[in-house]
Amino acid sequence: MNILVINCGSSSLKFQLIDAQTEQMIAKGLCERIGIEGSQLVYQPAGGAKEETVTPMPDHTKAIELVLGALTNEKTGVVKSLQEIGAVGHRIVHGGEKFAASTIITDEVIEAIKACNDLAPLHNPANLIGIDACRKLMPNTPMVGVFDTAFHQTMPKEAYLYGLPYEYYEKYQVRRYGFHGTSHSYVSRRAAELLGKNYEDMKIIVCHLGNGASISAVENGKCVDTSMGLTPLEGLIMGTRSGDIDPAIVEYIAHKEDKSIDEVMTVLNKKSGVLGLSDGLSSDFRDLEKSYVAGEDRGLRTIRTFAYRVAKYIGAYTAVMNGVDAICFTAGVGENSPLVRNLACERLGYLGIALDQEKNDKRGEELEVSTPDSRVKVLVVPTNEELAIARETFALVVEENK
Ligand code: ADP
Repeated sequence: MNILVINCGSSSLKFQLIDAQTEQMIAKGLCERIGIEGSQLVYQPAGGAKEETVTPMPDHTKAIELVLGALTNEKTGVVKSLQEIGAVGHRIVHGGEKFAASTIITDEVIEAIKACNDLAPLHNPANLIGIDACRKLMPNTPMVGVFDTAFHQTMPKEAYLYGLPYEYYEKYQVRRYGFHGTSHSYVSRRAAELLGKNYEDMKIIVCHLGNGASISAVENGKCVDTSMGLTPLEGLIMGTRSGDIDPAIVEYIAHKEDKSIDEVMTVLNKKSGVLGLSDGLSSDFRDLEKSYVAGEDRGLRTIRTFAYRVAKYIGAYTAVMNGVDAICFTAGVGENSPLVRNLACERLGYLGIALDQEKNDKRGEELEVSTPDSRVKVLVVPTNEELAIARETFALVVEENK
């Protein structure tokens, strides 16, 4: 069965068509600038040339219509008709406390997702628009929602509660939710597989270091803590997001710079992180690494501070689980930056961690980068959120048809 995976943002839409049996990607692409002038469709069949078409996309329905048109195109398409798409898997950012697992999308599920909109006002409405557009164009195709927050719903209360008046949790569901769950789940499972160990019998720390970055503690196959919180702003230092700060900084900067809370929040979300720390040099680690290698202070301080925070969380999560068997690095920076992996692991000698420098120098490959006698295994596991979504979608649709 072919599964169409959709990741719909407010003005963009990424897609992949995946054969659920072979787990091979058949085609992929994205729509950019939906509802904005200059919108374009990028489409690429597996092993084929990338096509870029600038064409008006006034809304998401039009965008999905174009995607389906490209997939079924006589010359460059990969399927003969929409009948060959067995199901659609939608990435949904926030499932609140309602969704601890993926689910077949029904009218009731859509209402329940809407009820989580307040918790992710930028993302959930866009995800719902994607679902709505697909349902219009493929009314008889089953759809599944896969939530970024679901994997983290196993966290115990002491991990997800904040030290705030309890009534805020009861009235407004203010608590830690965590994000990137699909990636943390995929990578931790894969690590156990690669090590030939039982997933339900391991203590794993996953460092998902991309533009957005989060880290999680996975004990016996269940997430027990994660660094992102009510929103994806908490935790590690990210591309442009601050991660953990003293909450009093918000008021302090608002006074000093004569800014509103909204304006300070924009700074924390868009102008902070490694971009802010490097004094605006870049949010991209490729640029920051060049500056680091050149010995410039902005590159040095930025990458050192970033890696320090990663090491600090690894230490914390080792304490949370009372030990750790494997540490996994994934996503853009985790997969491609030997420097960050080195700087983070350098501080973990007390855990008996040692990296094999030759292996660690590789980029973007699935491999064990610790030495054979390292007490804790360190792995690079490229994440594949689309495949994870396709697997979940396939499993639910097969179950439903039993
Ligand atoms: P997103 O959160 O947007 O999905 P990704 O996981 O794709 O992010 O990570 C993107 C980041 O990965 C880039 O901003 C860049 O910092 C980093 N990155 C990608 N390739 C490399 C590389 N070869 N070396 C160092 N960093 C890289």
